[in-house]
Amino acid sequence: MRPSFVEVELNNLRHNLELIRNHTENRPVMAVVKSNAYGHGLLKVAQFYEKLGVNCLGVALLEEGIRLRESGISLPIVVFGGVLPGQIAEYLEWNLEFLVSSPEVLRITETICKSGSQRATVHLKLDSGMGRVGINTEDSASFIEEAVRAEHITVKGVCSHLACADDPENPLTLKQVERFLAAVSVFERLGVEMPLRHLANSGGVLYFPQTHLDLIRPGILLYGVYPDVSSPHVLDVRPALQLKSKVSFYKSIPAGYSVSYGSTWTSERASNISTVPLGYGDGYRRQLSNCGEVLINGKRRSIAGRVCMDQFMVNCENEAIKIDDEVVLIGQHKDQSITVEEISALADTIPYEILTNLNERLPRIYTNE
Ligand SMILES: *Cc1c(COP(=O)(O)O)cnc(C)c1O
Repeated sequence: MRPSFVEVELNNLRHNLELIRNHTENRPVMAVVKSNAYGHGLLKVAQFYEKLGVNCLGVALLEEGIRLRESGISLPIVVFGGVLPGQIAEYLEWNLEFLVSSPEVLRITETICKSGSQRATVHLKLDSGMGRVGINTEDSASFIEEAVRAEHITVKGVCSHLACADDPENPLTLKQVERFLAAVSVFERLGVEMPLRHLANSGGVLYFPQTHLDLIRPGILLYGVYPDVSSPHVLDVRPALQLKSKVSFYKSIPAGYSVSYGSTWTSERASNISTVPLGYGDGYRRQLSNCGEVLINGKRRSIAGRVCMDQFMVNCENEAIKIDDEVVLIGQHKDQSITVEEISALADTIPYEILTNLNERLPRIYTNE
């Protein structure tokens, strides 16, 4: 196995789920495992959540749903991504639930199910202010009615997505709740059973109990990371992911010696330079060139020169380094730590992007199974 890898602490995933359950009065949970479980590894994480008794799993793509089914996951799986008519047969074949965002897809689904004597289980997607997909809440009554009347479609849920819930002060979230609740009152008017109402992403879980409703859909918070670095820390979640490697090469260089592409870094004095065998081809961002830090044997060290596709160099000053010494890129070593928040600030992005960009070519290791 290559010496660069992602290490996932399963106990932290368990701890985070428990905190979230306590914080939401034990609301049913859809564990969101899209984008390779935010970099933590789709299958293992999904199997672990299944063992912990979550109610369902959320993914973005049909392909992710199929991979989960192929690996034997039997929990309900909800696919968020847009449904194209040509995919509907596969959703049915693999027993995947999906979001229906338009009357057009609703009708095509009904037609396909009717001709094959099948049933689709869907969640109606309303747009209450995100402006991405879904029927606007104020225009949704006839859509909901048509869905309820469709003979081959089970409306298991009705949902919407929050645009600003990571900011507890933003008034849009309660506006979205209000619009959503007004829209779903149509089910009562039609005299049918209310399907599962779900709204809450991690921000909703943390800051807006009004969004918890019948099912919560946390993603990043399950992995121990806040949806916004600057928002108040109300739950003591623990990051589950570490990114580690090992020194693959080292050498002493004299003063005035340049390192890596473009020669953007030059030593001021004689220094020990270590090479770490991972790079932007693994999702370790090139913006970290000349500014990121890593822990080598527990000490913070600066990246020297540009991050390459598969390697980068670190200035270890006058410390004697050996091949195989431990490098922590994200995570902790004794009292030192480097967080995904630190990396994402340097790379001018958000933790979501850093985590989901960790390439599949990095092996995943799980501790405390
Ligand atoms: C990604 C996603 C979530 C989870 O979002 P987090 O901010 O990671 O909690 C929930 N619902 C939908 C529809 C999503 O696409």
